[in-house]
Amino acid sequence: MRKDYLPYGKQWLENDDIEAVINVLKSDYLTTGPTIANFEQKVANYVGAKYAVAFSNGTAALHGACFAAGIGEGDEVITTPITFAASANCVSYEGGTVVFADINEVTYNIDPIEIEKKITPQTKAIIPVHFTGQPVQLDEIHAIAKNHKLIVIEDAAHALGAEYKGKKIGALSDMTMFSFHPVKHVTTGEGGVITTNSESYYKKLVQFRSHGITRDMESMTQNDGPWYYDMQFLGYNYRMTDIQAALGLSQMDKLDNFVERRREIVQMYDEAFKDTEYLVTPKQLFEGNSSWHLYVIQLNLDKINSTRKEIFEALVAQNIGVNVHYIPVHTLSYYKELGYKEGSMPKAEALYETIITLPLFPKMTNEDVKDVVITVISELKKVSK
Ligand SMILES: *Cc1c(COP(=O)(O)O)cnc(C)c1O
Repeated sequence: MRKDYLPYGKQWLENDDIEAVINVLKSDYLTTGPTIANFEQKVANYVGAKYAVAFSNGTAALHGACFAAGIGEGDEVITTPITFAASANCVSYEGGTVVFADINEVTYNIDPIEIEKKITPQTKAIIPVHFTGQPVQLDEIHAIAKNHKLIVIEDAAHALGAEYKGKKIGALSDMTMFSFHPVKHVTTGEGGVITTNSESYYKKLVQFRSHGITRDMESMTQNDGPWYYDMQFLGYNYRMTDIQAALGLSQMDKLDNFVERRREIVQMYDEAFKDTEYLVTPKQLFEGNSSWHLYVIQLNLDKINSTRKEIFEALVAQNIGVNVHYIPVHTLSYYKELGYKEGSMPKAEALYETIITLPLFPKMTNEDVKDVVITVISELKKVSK
Protein backbone atom coordinates (compact mmCIF):
# COMPACT_ATOMS: atom_id res chain seq x y z
CA MET A 1 0.00 0.00 0.00
CA ARG A 2 1.12 3.59 -0.69
CA LYS A 3 2.52 5.44 2.31
CA ASP A 4 0.98 8.80 1.44
CA TYR A 5 -2.46 9.73 0.13
CA LEU A 6 -2.52 10.41 -3.61
CA PRO A 7 -5.20 13.04 -4.38
CA TYR A 8 -7.26 12.92 -7.61
CA GLY A 9 -5.97 16.34 -8.66
CA LYS A 10 -3.45 18.89 -7.46
CA GLN A 11 -1.71 22.09 -8.51
CA TRP A 12 1.98 22.28 -9.46
CA LEU A 13 3.69 25.42 -8.17
CA GLU A 14 7.42 26.12 -8.50
CA ASN A 15 9.71 28.85 -7.20
CA ASP A 16 9.18 31.09 -10.24
CA ASP A 17 5.41 31.03 -9.62
CA ILE A 18 6.01 32.09 -6.03
CA GLU A 19 8.47 34.82 -7.13
CA ALA A 20 5.87 36.19 -9.57
CA VAL A 21 3.34 36.56 -6.76
CA ILE A 22 5.91 38.18 -4.44
CA ASN A 23 6.78 40.73 -7.12
CA VAL A 24 3.16 41.89 -7.27
CA LEU A 25 2.98 42.06 -3.47
CA LYS A 26 5.93 44.49 -3.59
CA SER A 27 4.35 46.58 -6.38
CA ASP A 28 1.82 49.44 -6.28
CA TYR A 29 -1.18 47.43 -7.48
CA LEU A 30 -2.64 44.49 -5.59
CA THR A 31 -5.79 44.58 -7.71
CA THR A 32 -6.96 46.04 -11.04
CA GLY A 33 -3.38 46.86 -12.05
CA PRO A 34 -1.28 45.95 -15.07
CA THR A 35 -0.92 42.24 -14.23
CA ILE A 36 -4.62 41.59 -14.80
CA ALA A 37 -4.40 43.01 -18.33
CA ASN A 38 -1.26 40.96 -19.04
CA PHE A 39 -2.89 37.78 -17.82
CA GLU A 40 -6.01 38.43 -19.90
CA GLN A 41 -3.87 39.09 -22.98
CA LYS A 42 -1.95 35.87 -22.43
CA VAL A 43 -5.08 33.74 -22.16
CA ALA A 44 -6.65 35.46 -25.20
CA ASN A 45 -3.49 34.89 -27.27
CA TYR A 46 -3.23 31.28 -26.19
CA VAL A 47 -6.74 30.35 -27.32
CA GLY A 48 -6.74 32.73 -30.29
CA ALA A 49 -9.58 34.96 -29.05
CA LYS A 50 -9.77 38.76 -29.41
CA TYR A 51 -10.74 39.38 -25.79
CA ALA A 52 -10.38 37.76 -22.37
CA VAL A 53 -11.99 39.02 -19.16
CA ALA A 54 -10.72 37.73 -15.81
CA PHE A 55 -13.14 37.07 -12.94
CA SER A 56 -12.75 36.13 -9.27
CA ASN A 57 -13.65 32.52 -10.12
CA GLY A 58 -15.07 30.43 -12.94
CA THR A 59 -18.60 30.49 -11.54
CA ALA A 60 -18.61 34.31 -11.48
CA ALA A 61 -17.30 34.23 -15.07
CA LEU A 62 -20.21 31.98 -16.12
CA HIS A 63 -22.61 34.34 -14.34
CA GLY A 64 -21.10 37.22 -16.33
CA ALA A 65 -21.51 35.30 -19.58
CA CYS A 66 -25.19 34.62 -18.84
CA PHE A 67 -25.69 38.32 -18.09
CA ALA A 68 -23.89 39.41 -21.27
CA ALA A 69 -25.99 36.94 -23.28
CA GLY A 70 -29.10 38.69 -21.93
CA ILE A 71 -30.47 35.58 -20.22
CA GLY A 72 -33.35 36.43 -17.91
CA GLU A 73 -36.78 35.39 -16.74
CA GLY A 74 -38.66 33.33 -19.31
CA ASP A 75 -35.50 32.24 -21.12
CA GLU A 76 -34.54 28.58 -21.29
CA VAL A 77 -30.91 27.48 -21.40
CA ILE A 78 -29.87 23.93 -22.26
CA THR A 79 -26.97 22.22 -20.50
CA THR A 80 -25.77 18.76 -19.50
CA PRO A 81 -26.54 16.97 -16.24
CA ILE A 82 -23.01 15.49 -16.11
CA THR A 83 -21.23 18.61 -14.89
CA PHE A 84 -20.49 20.68 -11.84
CA ALA A 85 -23.57 22.54 -10.53
CA ALA A 86 -22.08 25.91 -11.58
CA SER A 87 -22.79 25.21 -15.28
CA ALA A 88 -26.51 25.31 -14.46
CA ASN A 89 -26.50 27.72 -11.51
CA CYS A 90 -25.33 30.65 -13.64
CA VAL A 91 -28.66 30.48 -15.52
CA SER A 92 -30.63 30.47 -12.26
CA TYR A 93 -28.68 33.52 -10.99
CA GLU A 94 -30.12 35.56 -13.85
CA GLY A 95 -33.65 34.18 -13.39
CA GLY A 96 -33.50 31.90 -16.44
CA THR A 97 -34.76 28.32 -16.62
CA VAL A 98 -32.26 25.46 -16.79
CA VAL A 99 -33.17 22.68 -19.22
CA PHE A 100 -31.09 19.50 -19.11
CA ALA A 101 -30.35 17.39 -22.19
CA ASP A 102 -29.01 13.85 -21.83
CA ILE A 103 -25.49 12.70 -22.75
CA ASN A 104 -23.91 10.51 -25.40
CA GLU A 105 -23.05 7.24 -23.63
CA VAL A 106 -19.62 6.93 -25.27
CA THR A 107 -18.21 10.44 -24.74
CA TYR A 108 -20.33 11.35 -21.67
CA ASN A 109 -20.79 14.78 -23.28
CA ILE A 110 -24.13 16.45 -24.05
CA ASP A 111 -25.70 14.84 -27.14
CA PRO A 112 -26.71 17.26 -29.95
CA ILE A 113 -29.70 15.00 -30.74
CA GLU A 114 -30.92 15.43 -27.16
CA ILE A 115 -30.36 19.21 -27.37
CA GLU A 116 -32.55 19.38 -30.47
CA LYS A 117 -35.37 17.59 -28.59
CA LYS A 118 -35.32 20.20 -25.81
CA ILE A 119 -35.59 23.30 -27.98
CA THR A 120 -38.71 25.48 -27.56
CA PRO A 121 -39.52 29.05 -28.64
CA GLN A 122 -38.17 30.12 -25.21
CA THR A 123 -34.71 28.59 -25.73
CA LYS A 124 -32.09 31.33 -25.66
CA ALA A 125 -28.73 29.62 -25.20
CA ILE A 126 -26.80 26.37 -24.90
CA ILE A 127 -24.08 25.81 -22.32
CA PRO A 128 -22.16 22.73 -23.50
CA VAL A 129 -19.50 21.38 -21.12
CA HIS A 130 -16.31 19.75 -22.41
CA PHE A 131 -16.52 17.07 -19.74
CA THR A 132 -13.07 15.76 -18.65
CA GLY A 133 -11.50 17.98 -21.35
CA GLN A 134 -12.93 16.13 -24.33
CA PRO A 135 -14.49 18.66 -26.74
CA VAL A 136 -18.23 18.41 -27.36
CA GLN A 137 -19.55 18.06 -30.95
CA LEU A 138 -19.20 21.77 -31.66
CA ASP A 139 -20.12 21.65 -35.37
CA GLU A 140 -23.45 20.00 -34.61
CA ILE A 141 -24.11 22.33 -31.67
CA HIS A 142 -23.26 25.42 -33.74
CA ALA A 143 -25.59 24.23 -36.51
CA ILE A 144 -28.46 23.88 -34.01
CA ALA A 145 -27.62 27.31 -32.55
CA LYS A 146 -27.63 28.91 -35.99
CA ASN A 147 -30.96 27.32 -36.93
CA HIS A 148 -32.69 28.50 -33.77
CA LYS A 149 -30.71 31.75 -33.19
CA LEU A 150 -29.19 30.59 -29.92
CA ILE A 151 -26.13 31.84 -28.06
CA VAL A 152 -23.45 29.26 -27.24
CA ILE A 153 -21.46 29.64 -24.02
CA GLU A 154 -18.88 26.87 -23.67
CA ASP A 155 -18.08 25.72 -20.15
CA ALA A 156 -14.43 24.89 -20.79
CA ALA A 157 -13.43 24.58 -17.13
CA HIS A 158 -11.94 21.18 -18.08
CA ALA A 159 -10.70 22.10 -21.53
CA LEU A 160 -7.92 24.71 -21.40
CA GLY A 161 -5.44 23.41 -23.99
CA ALA A 162 -7.96 21.10 -25.68
CA GLU A 163 -8.55 21.25 -29.44
CA TYR A 164 -11.54 20.72 -31.69
CA LYS A 165 -10.67 19.87 -35.33
CA GLY A 166 -7.19 21.32 -34.82
CA LYS A 167 -8.38 24.58 -33.25
CA LYS A 168 -7.90 25.52 -29.59
CA ILE A 169 -11.05 25.63 -27.49
CA GLY A 170 -11.71 29.27 -26.53
CA ALA A 171 -12.53 31.18 -29.71
CA LEU A 172 -15.07 28.94 -31.40
CA SER A 173 -18.38 30.03 -29.77
CA ASP A 174 -19.93 33.31 -28.57
CA MET A 175 -18.21 33.03 -25.21
CA THR A 176 -16.04 30.42 -23.47
CA MET A 177 -15.37 30.05 -19.76
CA PHE A 178 -12.15 28.73 -18.20
CA SER A 179 -11.58 28.05 -14.49
CA PHE A 180 -8.28 28.50 -12.66
CA HIS A 181 -9.18 26.55 -9.53
CA PRO A 182 -6.18 24.51 -8.23
CA VAL A 183 -7.44 21.18 -9.62
CA LYS A 184 -7.81 22.61 -13.14
CA HIS A 185 -4.99 22.74 -15.72
CA VAL A 186 -3.30 25.88 -14.39
CA THR A 187 -4.25 27.90 -11.32
CA THR A 188 -4.67 31.38 -9.88
CA GLY A 189 -5.90 30.01 -6.51
CA GLU A 190 -9.45 31.00 -7.43
CA GLY A 191 -10.09 32.49 -10.84
CA GLY A 192 -12.05 32.41 -14.05
CA VAL A 193 -11.85 33.88 -17.54
CA ILE A 194 -14.34 34.47 -20.34
CA THR A 195 -12.87 34.60 -23.83
CA THR A 196 -14.82 36.06 -26.74
CA ASN A 197 -14.38 37.61 -30.17
CA SER A 198 -17.28 40.02 -29.61
CA GLU A 199 -16.53 43.59 -28.55
CA SER A 200 -20.06 44.08 -27.24
CA TYR A 201 -19.89 40.98 -25.00
CA TYR A 202 -16.44 42.09 -23.88
CA LYS A 203 -17.67 45.52 -22.78
CA LYS A 204 -20.64 44.08 -20.91
CA LEU A 205 -18.44 41.52 -19.14
CA VAL A 206 -15.96 44.19 -17.97
CA GLN A 207 -18.75 46.40 -16.62
CA PHE A 208 -20.61 43.47 -14.99
CA ARG A 209 -17.49 42.38 -13.10
CA SER A 210 -17.24 45.84 -11.50
CA HIS A 211 -20.74 46.70 -10.19
CA GLY A 212 -22.15 47.74 -13.57
CA ILE A 213 -20.15 50.96 -13.24
CA THR A 214 -18.67 52.84 -16.21
CA ARG A 215 -16.48 55.91 -16.61
CA ASP A 216 -16.94 55.91 -20.36
CA MET A 217 -18.07 59.51 -21.12
CA GLU A 218 -19.72 58.59 -24.35
CA SER A 219 -22.16 56.18 -22.73
CA MET A 220 -23.06 58.54 -19.81
CA THR A 221 -26.04 60.90 -19.89
CA GLN A 222 -24.68 63.11 -17.10
CA ASN A 223 -21.16 64.21 -16.13
CA ASP A 224 -20.68 66.33 -13.01
CA GLY A 225 -16.88 66.41 -13.27
CA PRO A 226 -13.69 64.37 -13.41
CA TRP A 227 -14.80 62.20 -10.45
CA TYR A 228 -18.05 61.17 -12.11
CA TYR A 229 -19.08 57.64 -12.95
CA ASP A 230 -22.40 56.03 -13.68
CA MET A 231 -23.89 52.67 -12.71
CA GLN A 232 -25.96 51.56 -15.66
CA PHE A 233 -27.06 48.11 -14.49
CA LEU A 234 -26.70 45.90 -11.43
CA GLY A 235 -23.27 44.31 -11.54
CA TYR A 236 -21.11 42.65 -8.91
CA ASN A 237 -17.61 42.86 -7.51
CA TYR A 238 -16.27 39.83 -9.36
CA ARG A 239 -12.75 41.17 -9.96
CA MET A 240 -9.63 39.04 -9.89
CA THR A 241 -6.65 40.47 -7.96
CA ASP A 242 -3.26 41.18 -9.52
CA ILE A 243 -1.85 38.72 -6.99
CA GLN A 244 -3.92 35.94 -8.58
CA ALA A 245 -3.20 37.16 -12.11
CA ALA A 246 0.57 37.04 -11.46
CA LEU A 247 0.28 33.38 -10.52
CA GLY A 248 -1.85 32.78 -13.61
CA LEU A 249 0.66 34.49 -15.92
CA SER A 250 3.48 32.38 -14.60
CA GLN A 251 1.38 29.18 -14.75
CA MET A 252 0.27 29.81 -18.36
CA ASP A 253 3.90 29.34 -19.49
CA LYS A 254 3.68 25.77 -18.21
CA LEU A 255 0.26 24.90 -19.63
CA ASP A 256 1.46 23.02 -22.71
CA ASN A 257 3.85 20.91 -20.65
CA PHE A 258 1.14 20.18 -18.11
CA VAL A 259 -1.30 19.08 -20.83
CA GLU A 260 1.38 16.93 -22.48
CA ARG A 261 2.11 15.21 -19.17
CA ARG A 262 -1.61 14.62 -18.59
CA ARG A 263 -1.83 12.97 -22.03
CA GLU A 264 1.19 10.79 -21.20
CA ILE A 265 -0.41 9.59 -17.96
CA VAL A 266 -3.66 8.84 -19.79
CA GLN A 267 -1.72 6.71 -22.30
CA MET A 268 -0.19 4.77 -19.42
CA TYR A 269 -3.62 4.20 -17.86
CA ASP A 270 -5.17 3.19 -21.22
CA GLU A 271 -2.35 0.75 -21.91
CA ALA A 272 -2.47 -0.76 -18.41
CA PHE A 273 -6.25 -1.24 -18.41
CA LYS A 274 -6.74 -2.32 -22.02
CA ASP A 275 -7.14 -6.03 -21.27
CA THR A 276 -9.10 -5.64 -18.05
CA GLU A 277 -12.73 -6.70 -18.34
CA TYR A 278 -13.68 -5.18 -14.97
CA LEU A 279 -13.74 -1.64 -16.22
CA VAL A 280 -14.30 0.58 -19.26
CA THR A 281 -11.70 3.24 -20.04
CA PRO A 282 -12.73 6.68 -21.39
CA LYS A 283 -13.10 6.99 -25.16
CA GLN A 284 -12.35 9.95 -27.43
CA LEU A 285 -14.59 10.56 -30.42
CA PHE A 286 -15.60 13.31 -32.81
CA GLU A 287 -12.27 14.90 -33.78
CA GLY A 288 -11.46 16.40 -30.42
CA ASN A 289 -8.07 16.37 -28.74
CA SER A 290 -8.76 16.24 -25.02
CA SER A 291 -6.71 18.19 -22.50
CA TRP A 292 -7.56 15.48 -19.95
CA HIS A 293 -8.69 17.22 -16.80
CA LEU A 294 -10.14 13.96 -15.46
CA TYR A 295 -9.71 10.23 -16.10
CA VAL A 296 -13.12 8.66 -15.48
CA ILE A 297 -13.49 4.89 -15.59
CA GLN A 298 -16.75 2.92 -15.58
CA LEU A 299 -16.83 -0.22 -13.44
CA ASN A 300 -18.18 -3.23 -15.26
CA LEU A 301 -20.54 -4.25 -12.46
CA ASP A 302 -21.57 -7.41 -14.38
CA LYS A 303 -18.07 -8.80 -13.90
CA ILE A 304 -17.58 -8.03 -10.21
CA ASN A 305 -19.30 -9.00 -6.97
CA SER A 306 -19.11 -5.61 -5.41
CA THR A 307 -20.68 -2.16 -5.50
CA ARG A 308 -19.14 1.08 -6.73
CA LYS A 309 -19.24 2.35 -3.14
CA GLU A 310 -17.26 -0.65 -1.85
CA ILE A 311 -14.63 -0.30 -4.59
CA PHE A 312 -14.40 3.44 -3.94
CA GLU A 313 -13.88 2.88 -0.21
CA ALA A 314 -11.33 0.12 -0.81
CA LEU A 315 -9.27 2.42 -3.08
CA VAL A 316 -9.37 5.28 -0.57
CA ALA A 317 -8.31 2.84 2.17
CA GLN A 318 -5.25 2.05 -0.01
CA ASN A 319 -4.45 5.81 -0.23
CA ILE A 320 -5.65 6.13 -3.82
CA GLY A 321 -7.61 9.39 -3.88
CA VAL A 322 -10.51 8.57 -6.14
CA ASN A 323 -13.55 10.78 -6.68
CA VAL A 324 -16.87 10.74 -8.58
CA HIS A 325 -17.57 13.26 -11.35
CA TYR A 326 -20.42 14.05 -11.32
CA ILE A 327 -23.62 13.49 -9.43
CA PRO A 328 -26.14 14.41 -12.17
CA VAL A 329 -27.08 18.03 -11.45
CA HIS A 330 -30.82 17.48 -11.99
CA THR A 331 -30.86 15.00 -9.07
CA LEU A 332 -29.53 17.55 -6.54
CA SER A 333 -32.18 18.85 -4.11
CA TYR A 334 -32.30 22.41 -5.45
CA TYR A 335 -33.03 21.24 -8.99
CA LYS A 336 -35.39 18.48 -7.83
CA GLU A 337 -37.40 21.15 -6.00
CA LEU A 338 -37.60 23.05 -9.28
CA GLY A 339 -39.30 19.99 -10.76
CA TYR A 340 -36.50 17.98 -12.40
CA LYS A 341 -37.24 14.29 -12.05
CA GLU A 342 -34.99 11.36 -11.38
CA GLY A 343 -35.37 9.04 -14.38
CA SER A 344 -35.57 11.94 -16.84
CA MET A 345 -31.91 11.61 -17.95
CA PRO A 346 -31.48 7.83 -18.24
CA LYS A 347 -28.00 7.83 -19.79
CA ALA A 348 -26.56 10.35 -17.34
CA GLU A 349 -28.11 8.52 -14.41
CA ALA A 350 -26.85 5.11 -15.60
CA LEU A 351 -23.35 6.52 -16.06
CA TYR A 352 -23.37 7.97 -12.55
CA GLU A 353 -23.94 4.50 -11.06
CA THR A 354 -20.68 3.07 -12.42
CA ILE A 355 -18.08 5.87 -12.56
CA ILE A 356 -14.94 6.51 -10.55
CA THR A 357 -12.40 9.26 -11.25
CA LEU A 358 -8.78 8.11 -10.90
CA PRO A 359 -5.94 10.47 -9.86
CA LEU A 360 -4.65 12.58 -12.77
CA PHE A 361 -2.41 15.63 -12.44
CA PRO A 362 0.86 16.59 -14.13
CA LYS A 363 3.03 16.28 -11.04
CA MET A 364 2.13 12.58 -10.66
CA THR A 365 5.19 10.37 -11.15
CA ASN A 366 5.23 7.16 -13.20
CA GLU A 367 5.46 5.37 -9.83
CA ASP A 368 2.23 7.07 -8.72
CA VAL A 369 0.54 5.92 -11.93
CA LYS A 370 1.76 2.35 -11.31
CA ASP A 371 0.41 2.47 -7.73
CA VAL A 372 -3.02 3.43 -9.06
CA VAL A 373 -3.01 0.75 -11.76
CA ILE A 374 -1.84 -2.05 -9.48
CA THR A 375 -4.26 -1.11 -6.70
CA VAL A 376 -7.27 -0.75 -9.02
CA ILE A 377 -6.61 -4.06 -10.78
CA SER A 378 -5.94 -5.98 -7.58
CA GLU A 379 -9.02 -4.59 -5.80
CA LEU A 380 -11.20 -5.52 -8.79
CA LYS A 381 -9.64 -9.00 -9.10
CA LYS A 382 -10.43 -9.69 -5.44
CA VAL A 383 -14.14 -9.34 -6.19
CA SER A 384 -14.11 -10.91 -9.66
CA LYS A 385 -17.18 -12.99 -10.54
C1 LIG B 1 -14.53 24.06 -11.86
C2 LIG B 1 -15.74 24.13 -12.68
C3 LIG B 1 -16.57 25.27 -12.75
C4 LIG B 1 -16.46 26.45 -11.84
O1 LIG B 1 -15.25 26.98 -11.67
P1 LIG B 1 -14.81 27.68 -10.30
O2 LIG B 1 -13.60 28.41 -10.72
O3 LIG B 1 -14.56 26.59 -9.31
O4 LIG B 1 -15.91 28.59 -9.88
C5 LIG B 1 -17.62 25.27 -13.66
N1 LIG B 1 -17.86 24.22 -14.44
C6 LIG B 1 -17.13 23.11 -14.37
C7 LIG B 1 -17.46 21.97 -15.28
C8 LIG B 1 -16.06 23.01 -13.49
O5 LIG B 1 -15.35 21.88 -13.43
